[in-house]
Amino acid sequence: MVWGKEIARNLYGLTGDMRIQYLDISDEGHLILKIGNHEIDLYELITKNDLPGAHIRILPLIRKMMVQVVEVFIRAMKKHNSKLGFIPIYPLKSNSSKIVIDTIWSHGEKYNWGFNIGTIPEAELISNYSNKKPRLLVVDGVKDKAFIEKLIDMKNNWEIIVDIESERDVEILKEYPELKIGIRIKLLSTTRSPWSKSSGLYSKFGISLIDFENIIDKYEYLYDRSVLLHVHAGSQIPSLEDLDKIIGETVSIYTYLRKIGLDNLTYIDFGGGLAYPYTHFKKGSGFSPDYTLEEYAELIVEKTMGLEKFDAKIVFEGGRYIVAPHRITVSKVIDVRPYGARPRIYEDVGYGIIDEIRKAGNLKELNNVLRKIREVITRLTSRTEASKENRILLEKLITSIEYEVSKKIEELFSRMRLDEFIEYIKYPSPLLEYLITPSMRVFVSFSVFNHIPDKIVVDQYFQVVPLSRLLKKPEILAILSDLTCDSMGEYGDFYSYVEKPFKEKLIPLDLLTSTDKKLLYVPNMLVKLNGIPLHIPRKGEKYYLAFLETGAYQDMLGMNHNMLSGYPEILIDIIDGQLKIKVVNKSYASKYPV
Ligand SMILES: *Cc1c(COP(=O)(O)O)cnc(C)c1O
Repeated sequence: MVWGKEIARNLYGLTGDMRIQYLDISDEGHLILKIGNHEIDLYELITKNDLPGAHIRILPLIRKMMVQVVEVFIRAMKKHNSKLGFIPIYPLKSNSSKIVIDTIWSHGEKYNWGFNIGTIPEAELISNYSNKKPRLLVVDGVKDKAFIEKLIDMKNNWEIIVDIESERDVEILKEYPELKIGIRIKLLSTTRSPWSKSSGLYSKFGISLIDFENIIDKYEYLYDRSVLLHVHAGSQIPSLEDLDKIIGETVSIYTYLRKIGLDNLTYIDFGGGLAYPYTHFKKGSGFSPDYTLEEYAELIVEKTMGLEKFDAKIVFEGGRYIVAPHRITVSKVIDVRPYGARPRIYEDVGYGIIDEIRKAGNLKELNNVLRKIREVITRLTSRTEASKENRILLEKLITSIEYEVSKKIEELFSRMRLDEFIEYIKYPSPLLEYLITPSMRVFVSFSVFNHIPDKIVVDQYFQVVPLSRLLKKPEILAILSDLTCDSMGEYGDFYSYVEKPFKEKLIPLDLLTSTDKKLLYVPNMLVKLNGIPLHIPRKGEKYYLAFLETGAYQDMLGMNHNMLSGYPEILIDIIDGQLKIKVVNKSYASKYPV
């Protein structure tokens, strides 16, 4: 049986550009965190604290992402000899937990990292921070006068720019000459991201260029006070081609506005959208961009080269990219149940279909039987007279079928060549469907609604990795169930992509889980599994799962379904070279079964 650290790293997505920098597998098969010169065994960390689970917050990762962004942009600007300014700002909405803002605030001092806010509570939070050197504060829209008054109170500590999105905004801001103006324009370029509704003429934010032209005719003050052009085409933009259009459009709007006489418009703010790689491969999902941070920066720098004559300054407003990796959510497995009923053979079901499975001599024949089974089961389940006898017979039939199919697959696969198998598995078929369907339901001490709400909201992908037994081949494919009484509270998405860098010769059975004989991977081929490859916890064994990169948006969107808001947290930081680990919010542990 071929299995090892390299395949485990690949299967669980620990090989991508980002994760390779801070995650690995120890010789004990535990998931480890690499921060500076420190290695932290996450399994030991969580079991030592005996928690049902926790959000592990790794503050040095926020700093790492900040530094990476600045360095990559500066390198791109040097390479192209761009003379433009570069100013990073952080949008509070991506994560406004105090510990996150504290970290960005203090580490941002040397870069003069500014902020972007949109609401009164966000203004209140950010007004607690003040620096000798005022930082940029870009405010999304006027909202109301109370909001503006709050901003006026802050004006000595911040360089405040308030976006206008309508004539009403312009009317209100007329009376506050001390505030600078940002122009939030609707982009026509669209994207293919799950947040694509943020752009286009019918998007929620900003003003169309023609409406802006009409307004500026009536409110001459805009010529003097407008200092920033603001766009945002939605979060997690997956393709460089889309970005190319967005940046190109923004640059042309900027050039136009300078030409019509907005002489103080020096900031060009491209908004967010820089996608975080939530998968370790580049194509095939809206949650894996087809570009790198380097390519993103190069694109912006190249496209803005012509703006030097305007003394323009690029504003980087990414939030997701900065905070996504800093939170890893780990949760304990508390029960393992069959997906349907426990597979075994009931010889008394008396259906010829079982014999047909047994007789199948190759994959083609098995596939035909599987197709037939689907029809038979659909027909039987749609019958209304569900007497006790009928129900039990049906349960026995389905269970026996699953048992027999699994045995048959093992038998057929063990005498097949790998290339035959791969050729067969490339295309959709009832067999492939069977192979990627979970066989177990694993109950986990967590809440999808609270910890990864974007699964519910935009069907976001989160990488799941067991914290232990990674050097053992996964035994089953399982769907994860949370603690809520809601059928949406489950998670079973798994992108399997294993590049074959290893020398060993594979046989088809190597590609299957060891117990339920479901598909684990096909070398060099992307397969979306409908369950997570896991191990069955032995009696008394503590088995935990990690959900990676839950640091952007999930904190703020977390729902209180079944009163499950809050989770213990483990803070990890490095202060003066010393590793500091602290458990906070421990009282929340009592909400979750251990
Ligand atoms: C949400 C938002 C951002 C952050 O976007 P990310 O994709 O998370 O980086 C930036 N700017 C504005 C105006 C936003 O609304």
